[in-house]
This record gives sequence, structure tokens and C-alpha cells, in this order.
Amino acid sequence: MTKTTILVVEDEPTIATAVAQRLVAEGWHVEVAGDGLTAVDAAARLQPDLIVLDVMLPGIDGLEVTRRIHAHWPTPILMLTARDDETDMLIGLGVGADDYMTKPFSMRELVARCKALLRRAQHTAAAGQRAQAPVPVVTFGDLAIDQAQRRVHRDGEEIHLTPTEFDLLVMLAASPHTVLTREKLLAEVWDWIDASGTRTVDSHIKALRRKLGAGLIRTVHGVGYAFEPPSE
Ligand code: CA
Repeated sequence: MTKTTILVVEDEPTIATAVAQRLVAEGWHVEVAGDGLTAVDAAARLQPDLIVLDVMLPGIDGLEVTRRIHAHWPTPILMLTARDDETDMLIGLGVGADDYMTKPFSMRELVARCKALLRRAQHTAAAGQRAQAPVPVVTFGDLAIDQAQRRVHRDGEEIHLTPTEFDLLVMLAASPHTVLTREKLLAEVWDWIDASGTRTVDSHIKALRRKLGAGLIRTVHGVGYAFEPPSE
């Protein structure tokens, strides 16, 4: 088995070096790109298992890097942003990163999120290999969730979700009308135990509502979210 490869895209050398050293210490192979075009080239050459991507870069920015890479490969991307509202803006634009972290972040948190994304990518790959086994398509009114193909249709139209958005929808839809806490969602979808990352859940809920319609997911203030199936 080849070593897990992570591409770190960051134009600030001190941050890039610190992140790379920490990830190497986990036993991963790490390469660093200092600008967007180099990052796209490196992604094509390396086929990394994960990309840690700063959003503000010289040349093309992290949004464009994500678009170009995801046009070819479904590589998980952990995006580094400067502020929480920047994360919301990126979600609103439908950038499709798998997770977001706001600077400054702890290295412990970075490693935990990288591990969670890598684990989930492995699960997804394993699920793809098992896809021959018939898994029923779950439908709620005009919403159809195909877990084998990992595809979602609403009113006959395919809705393109990121792997994280898909897993979050499946988790919510498994218990209609039931409130799931952010902590529960983080633990199940992100494999992420520490509740300090709860902002990520809110951002991905926002993305799901934008893509699927606002009525599907109800906010229970201070608690979490509940899936409300569309009527027949
Ligand atoms: Ca930067």
C-alpha cells in the first residue's frame, strides 16, 4: 500500500512549513505548493489523498483551485479560511470543499480533521466497491437518495452534493422528524468528537438547504437539526 499523500497549498512559508512538519510527523507524505497553479499541477501529478488548501493565494485562489481539481478528481479538500463569515461566503458560492477551518487553528485540530476526512474517503471507496449489492433507493416525496450510487434527485433533477453533504443528508434522513445535535452529527458524519468544530455543521446545513430547498431541514435553536421529509 502506498503512503498517504497530502498536498498542502499555502503561500505563507511559516504556516506552510509548520503544517507540513506536523502532517509528516503523523507519518504522511506531504508536498507543499505555494500558489494556485502549482497546486493544480501538483494535484494532477501526485493524485493526493487529501488537499489542505488556503483560500487566499497568489495567482488563482482556493475557489478556482477547488473547481479545477474537482472537475477531474473527487479529492477531499480541507479549506483554510481567514474568518467564519468567509466560510459562509464560500458555502454560499457552492465551492464544495469537504471541510473548513478558520485561522488561527490548532495543529491538533488540523490533524484530527485530516484523519476524519481520510477515514471517510476510505469508507466511500469501500462503499463504491460494494455497490454491486442492491441497496434500495430511499424516497421521501420528490426526494430520492441513492446510497449505492451516492446520488440525490429532487423532482427528477440530480442534485450534486459533495461527499460530506451527502453523508450529512443520509444521517439526517435516517431519522425523520428527529432532532440530531451538532455534536452527534459531527461524531457520525465527520468522525469528529471535539465539539469546537460545530461551525462546520452549520455551514454544511446551509449548503444542503441551498441545493435541496430550505424546508427539508429544520433548525432547533441551541440544539441541532431535524430532517422534515417533503410531502408526497
Ligand atoms: Ca494565503
